[in-house]
Amino acid sequence: MAYALIIHGGAGARPGTDYTPQSLHMERLIAEGQKMLLGGRDALDVVSDMVAELEGSGLYVAGKGSAPNLAGAFELDASIMDGKDQRAGAVAAIEGVKHPILAARAVMEDGRHVLLAGPGARDMACSAGLAEITDPLSYYSEHVTHGSADATSHGTVGAVALDLSGGLAAGTSTGGTFNKLPGRVGDTPLIGAGTWADDHVAVSCTGVGEAFIRSAAAHDLAARMRYGGRSVTEAANEVLAEVHKCGGDGGLIAVDAQGRIAMPYNSDGMKRAAVSSQMQPVVRVFEPEL
Ligand code: ASP
Repeated sequence: MAYALIIHGGAGARPGTDYTPQSLHMERLIAEGQKMLLGGRDALDVVSDMVAELEGSGLYVAGKGSAPNLAGAFELDASIMDGKDQRAGAVAAIEGVKHPILAARAVMEDGRHVLLAGPGARDMACSAGLAEITDPLSYYSEHVTHGSADATSHGTVGAVALDLSGGLAAGTSTGGTFNKLPGRVGDTPLIGAGTWADDHVAVSCTGVGEAFIRSAAAHDLAARMRYGGRSVTEAANEVLAEVHKCGGDGGLIAVDAQGRIAMPYNSDGMKRAAVSSQMQPVVRVFEPEL
């Protein structure tokens, strides 16, 4: 059986920046994820673990590396989707929770709703026993290294996986764009915009969220495959062209049910790593698509 895993650390890569720490981190993670998949772990668990590790590292603009909004608050977004049954969970503008992706998973496992925002999302995370942050200013200390001076900076994290039983899953987590307004919610927690998984494909997006929302990017990719007979690579490139028409740049990672992968971007670069039953691990930032 085929397996595949792709992770990303955001399409907000700035030329001239040294991303060696992120590349080394992704190299280690992709090897861990490969081991998990080869050991028979479910795609959903691998995606949760990968995104939680990316969030906890402080190396990306998600989880610990998130930047404050214009009011100084750290409002984070995340979502997760299981392709087997299209169950999904998401949190928007959540504060005080160490791993928004696990909060999104808690919403999914609870099953009553798909998307919780603000204090309600935090309550769900707390009832699930997830780690809280009591001193946000000292916890979120890494964002200064990610380009806060640049109003357009951003850098979501995400993962998509195909497991040995044929299950697909996708997850995405972000601190959002730098200098965002209080209450701003991007594409990341919106199922069908920033994240999608069904029995054909799993997708996680990164980039200017408003353009990904307006083009319903993640679901559009799946629809182009399902109804248009496109390959995952064709669908991914077409979707990025639509995102561009909506005035945004960025990238996405996608894997289909046969383990074929795509990870295109139309920004300057995208931190990303991949491995599959057909491919040795690769880690890329600025180098062109494989
Ligand atoms: N898409 C994210 C957002 O708009 C940002 C990113 O991917 O870097 O919140």
